[in-house]
Amino acid sequence: MAASINQSTVINNIEFAQKALEIHDIIPLLQFSRLGDSLASTSGELDCRLSGGKGVNNIAYLQLQVQGRLQLVCQRCLQPLVHDLSVDVRYVLVRNESEMPAPEDESDDEDYLPVETEMPVLELIEDEVLLALPIAPRHEDGQCASENKIDEYRKPNPFAKLEALKSKK
Ligand SMILES: [Zn+2]
Repeated sequence: MAASINQSTVINNIEFAQKALEIHDIIPLLQFSRLGDSLASTSGELDCRLSGGKGVNNIAYLQLQVQGRLQLVCQRCLQPLVHDLSVDVRYVLVRNESEMPAPEDESDDEDYLPVETEMPVLELIEDEVLLALPIAPRHEDGQCASENKIDEYRKPNPFAKLEALKSKK
């Protein structure tokens, strides 16, 4: 099954998993309202694929894969920073909290989602993308665009002292 994903796309997630359905779409970054705050530019798109299936013991799961290139904002120089995003996460569908494993038994490779008849797909993707972003993105050391400018700015201005003297009068 191929379908496009937009703000109003919802799936019955348990049925989606049991029927092993799949949706794949290239979603413009502009569609993600919350993500915009973290981006230097909203031009571009994300390649998103959501598929369902059943694993061992007939456990229904969803698999989400998101790939794309984002322009984040470097926290040091505030210039754009290219970030290659790659998300691949599996969610086990649970009907209630009692189906969730104890925290010590949780697997690092899996997450959990409640069974929902109308699960918003775009929201799930955006949640996962936001989680995958670095908290304080930065260029590699020495790669910041405006480092030179900052150094120049910090150089003492020979006229500053003079101005300071003048203003004391
Ligand atoms: Zn930088």
